[in-house]
Amino acid sequence: MSYSLKPDEVAAAAKDWLEKRGVRIEDIAEITYALQKDYVEDVQMEDCIESVERVISKREVQNAVLTGIQLDYLCEQGALIAPLQDMVKYDEGLYGADEILALSIVNIYGSIGLTNFGYIDKVKPGIVGRLNDKTDGQVHTFLDDIVAAIASSAASRLAHNTYDAEKPMTPP
Ligand code: MG
Repeated sequence: MSYSLKPDEVAAAAKDWLEKRGVRIEDIAEITYALQKDYVEDVQMEDCIESVERVISKREVQNAVLTGIQLDYLCEQGALIAPLQDMVKYDEGLYGADEILALSIVNIYGSIGLTNFGYIDKVKPGIVGRLNDKTDGQVHTFLDDIVAAIASSAASRLAHNTYDAEKPMTPP
């Protein structure tokens, strides 16, 4: 039996699931804006929204979104195998696979993305803080890191694009 995957369906599912889990593009873009407003002159919220959308349009990112949300969701149903079930449910300190999955997003965008990701992970601004505060009865062990990764990758894109526009590459 042959297998064929429709890229549009993967993209739509990733966007759909982000929304179902309470994450709007604007929420992610707010973090991107806060990260870049002091570094990218005249940066507007619309630029940040566009950058977030560009990040989410990448297949590697959609894969991470769908995988992470799926694990959070299965954990809510109590469907993970012990001891993983409790490790994900309680966001166990030594369990780092959530960060590692999110890094598969950040890795696409280079070192500025990585520094920003570390910063968001510490400060937990906006939607990342809300996902992390465990008050909505849902499990977001994977999703908080994925949102942090998308926001920091979008910031990295903006930073690089601005720099490249100001200083066009000259031949060596
Ligand atoms: Mg996490």
